[in-house]
Amino acid sequence: MKKLIFLTILFPLISFSQGILSDKTEFSRQDTLRGSITKERSWWDLNRYHLDISVNPEQRSISGSNKISYTVLKPYDVMQIDLQTPLKLTKAVQDNSELEIINDGNAHFIKLKKQQNIGSKEEITVYYEGNPRVAVRAPWDGGISWEKDRNGNHFIASSCQGLGASVWWPNKDHMYDEPESMLMSVNVPKGLTNISNGRLVKIEEMSDSTTFHWEVVNPINNYGVNINIGDYVNFSEVYKGEKGDLDMDYYVLSYNLEKAKIHFKDAIKSMQAFEHWFGPYPFYEDSFKLVETPYLGMEHQSSVTYGNQYKKGYLGRDLSGTGWGLKFDYIIIHETGHEWFANNITYKDIADMWIHEGFTTYSENLFIDYHYGKKAASEYVIGTRRGIRNEKPLIGPYNVNKGGSSDMYSKGANLLHTLRHIINDDEKWRNVLRGLNRDFYHKTVTTTDIENYISKKININLKPFFDQYLRDIRIPVLEYKQVDGKILYRWDNVIEDFEMPIDLIATDYVLGTQNKIRIYPTKKWKSKKIKGSIEIDSNYYVDSKYVLQ
Ligand SMILES: [Zn+2]
Repeated sequence: MKKLIFLTILFPLISFSQGILSDKTEFSRQDTLRGSITKERSWWDLNRYHLDISVNPEQRSISGSNKISYTVLKPYDVMQIDLQTPLKLTKAVQDNSELEIINDGNAHFIKLKKQQNIGSKEEITVYYEGNPRVAVRAPWDGGISWEKDRNGNHFIASSCQGLGASVWWPNKDHMYDEPESMLMSVNVPKGLTNISNGRLVKIEEMSDSTTFHWEVVNPINNYGVNINIGDYVNFSEVYKGEKGDLDMDYYVLSYNLEKAKIHFKDAIKSMQAFEHWFGPYPFYEDSFKLVETPYLGMEHQSSVTYGNQYKKGYLGRDLSGTGWGLKFDYIIIHETGHEWFANNITYKDIADMWIHEGFTTYSENLFIDYHYGKKAASEYVIGTRRGIRNEKPLIGPYNVNKGGSSDMYSKGANLLHTLRHIINDDEKWRNVLRGLNRDFYHKTVTTTDIENYISKKININLKPFFDQYLRDIRIPVLEYKQVDGKILYRWDNVIEDFEMPIDLIATDYVLGTQNKIRIYPTKKWKSKKIKGSIEIDSNYYVDSKYVLQ
């Protein structure tokens, strides 16, 4: 048996010590207003945002407006818009008429005057200003990072997963509803460039400032929207992908250009691997960008942000301890993987954040599989188990904007790796992954949607499997003993009705030949005739115990 060392190494990525993954168990009215689909949210369906803002780096302030286009689903006369203090929502206007706003912490209830008829398409514009929360430790404890580059130029970026986009702009801050498109008009002091999502459609030069207009023509989740302001230079290439030509654009600080041209080759490599496993990149129309930021990185849709210091691994470290983690830049691969799981398939409630992080951490191993083979990939994903704590379930509480355990990264990846081996047919498994991205294309989902989809596709009832790994903290223990040419086995440390097949490697005592044998343990003892010594297939994330007679 392999001995695991470095058990105490902390995964730096998994350090949401505050905010969405904290140990908080008591929730306030503000948490419910932020995290649930309130009556004031559910009656209208988002169509489009036009965020039109000026960013003032010297004052560390933002001011501007958001024009919200929506369709009425049910008549109602109060609309909830979220904007976090200390920013102030100053005005709301519909059809040239100013509306009353009732503030309740970070939620703002706007009293509409106009009759809202089912099916009608309406617009409302909200205005705001102030000094947004400064990021404490971006991206985990986010807000706006107001930094300077080596040349003393402003280097500014937003990051807000969990905290919510309302930390820097007013919107419907719940993940279930996405606008179909978005225009971002961002005015910055002359000499600086703003990079946001989608494509740059217009640049307007004023005497002392410049406005950059970025257009996204696909649904976008609110924490995916971002501004990045700095002394950027650009280079680009075209990837010949499954849906044709994909524009890949890179924005880096001027002094990092030459370094980036070599280092960012991982971007095309990730596109190759992920299109193979997950299907076409989900946002061809919006292009793909990598944008340098003063913090580590984030999966901002079609403008993935990058701050891994041009190092391989995670800031130069291999999270798996196997060496494979140093073959690629963790941030480029991981954040690009999120284009499929986070931006294409998006959780409705952050309680289900494992869908983003489990599948995306798993995508690191699929990247290795594509470029270095299956054995290397298995070693990597198994290596990441050393960071799993099994203290809290992967799924968090619903409707209060709270994520589950930070184990959602490596335990999430290992539950998917285990599932691949249960299915035992890589083409089928690839079809499941591609099918998820096709059938939930540009959709928001729940864990149940994902569970039911996979169970149906592979025709196995996975309820006990998912309940065990997502909703319980115990890791199944295969208890076994060998008596008279037979192996006796059962699952222990599992939920009621747990069942899961597992593979054993049997080595013949005399010939030394190896044989893979599948058994179907339950909580009751079962037996099978097997000659030779037994090893448990380490691809399954389980423990085992030899029981003495
Ligand atoms: Zn991630």
